[in-house]
Amino acid sequence: MISLPSTVVDFMNIIRTAGFDVYVVGGAVRNLLLKKEVTNWDFTTNATPEKIQELFSDNFYHNTYGTVTVKSGSNLFEITPFRKESLYTDNRHPEKIEWAKTLQEDLARRDFTINSMAFDGKTITDIFEGKKHISEKQIVTVGNPDTRFQEDALRLMRGIRFASQLGFLIAEDTRKAMTRNSGLIKNISWERIRDELLKIIGSDFPSEGILFLKSTGILKYILPELDDCFAIPQKSPNRHHIYDVGTHLIMSLKSCPSSDPITRLASLLHDVGKVGTFHKDEKTQMITFYNHEVVGTIQAKQIADRLRLSNDQKTKFIRLIEFHQFTVIEDQTDKSIRRFIKDVGKEYIQDMLDLRTADRIGSGATPTSWRLDLFKKRIIEVQKVPFTVKELTIDGTDVMNTLKIKPSKQVGDILDALFEKVVNGEMKNERETLLNALKNISK
Ligand code: ATP
Ligand code: MG
Repeated sequence: MISLPSTVVDFMNIIRTAGFDVYVVGGAVRNLLLKKEVTNWDFTTNATPEKIQELFSDNFYHNTYGTVTVKSGSNLFEITPFRKESLYTDNRHPEKIEWAKTLQEDLARRDFTINSMAFDGKTITDIFEGKKHISEKQIVTVGNPDTRFQEDALRLMRGIRFASQLGFLIAEDTRKAMTRNSGLIKNISWERIRDELLKIIGSDFPSEGILFLKSTGILKYILPELDDCFAIPQKSPNRHHIYDVGTHLIMSLKSCPSSDPITRLASLLHDVGKVGTFHKDEKTQMITFYNHEVVGTIQAKQIADRLRLSNDQKTKFIRLIEFHQFTVIEDQTDKSIRRFIKDVGKEYIQDMLDLRTADRIGSGATPTSWRLDLFKKRIIEVQKVPFTVKELTIDGTDVMNTLKIKPSKQVGDILDALFEKVVNGEMKNERETLLNALKNISK
């Protein structure tokens, strides 16, 4: 049996007391049955948006779907009148919104059976066997799957997203219809595709999600670069690579220790440049991919633009791909390690190391090696020496106060000189030491 928090019960009672029906619907009912946290509460009702607004002072009514958002403490409750299916002509938007008279009609327009249950606080209305499919861990469309994907092709990705978030399988009929209708994804905006893709990649079963995209044929429309990788072998004589490039990338995604979707996306795509750089020596049978990270960086830029990543996401994604071939050999100088940190960017170093772990496990190797461990230690060590003047333990105010001088170019010059000494190892970046050095100048 499932129960509702008291804030939700209170909210529903106000509507009922006013003489209307109200139900919790969609993801909330699904998550309650799965004993998962409910992050947003959706309701459906036979009351008009205007009536709902009269009942709650703290509300806003903002969209063409008739949804009123009511603020209740820290919760936002979204309540929408019963709706029904209307004509879809472009595989994404209903031609017009039509109100429905019954709850049954409203549930019938919903995408998957696990999302089409309603709960009034006592009874679950479950016309499409949502409960059964939850216990069987299956994603099944409500009604004819071909029709439902043709109405709204975003459902192709939503279905795969729910499968990878919940660890469910996609029922055979639904999966076959996904495959038949995969090309319709072209009618969906890149922003919506990106949102679903990043949810798949950030989920508990990301590699399964990407494999669903691959096997249904959707992948070639959204990430053709990755789709091509499955045709590229990498097994050379006496080399340990066990997978083709595509499978290696899937395994890398699966093994990525970070939960950040961009770090995971980079793990998934770090080797896409191997398609264009594949070379097999006929005599030795050796396969090489020279400069694949250079080619891959160009492709990463195209992918970031296609998926409309934000500037920050794009920078991070490209850096991780561009520098993923970094070396961890033990005899490199501190200077070269500092160069690496500057190239990648301090804020992305942990993600870069996570990608290396993903890459190693995804190649069938151990998560780390003594060289990689040593490299990680040295990364911490070399960062004790500042990278910029700003990281010195003293600043311009200290210089001016100690030397009793006014703001001028001289202040910067003195800081630069001290920074040089710290970087060269002549002086430690300790406040006491640097203040003493200043006092010596003033003498
Ligand atoms: P999440 O946990 O991601 O919020 P959710 O199931 O609540 O999952 P929403 O996108 O918030 O998903 O949508 C709420 C409900 O609206 C869904 O459960 C489903 O019943 C319905 N719905 C959403 N998008 C569609 C769609 N494209 N086609 C049909 N029904 C949809
Ligand atoms: Mg939701």
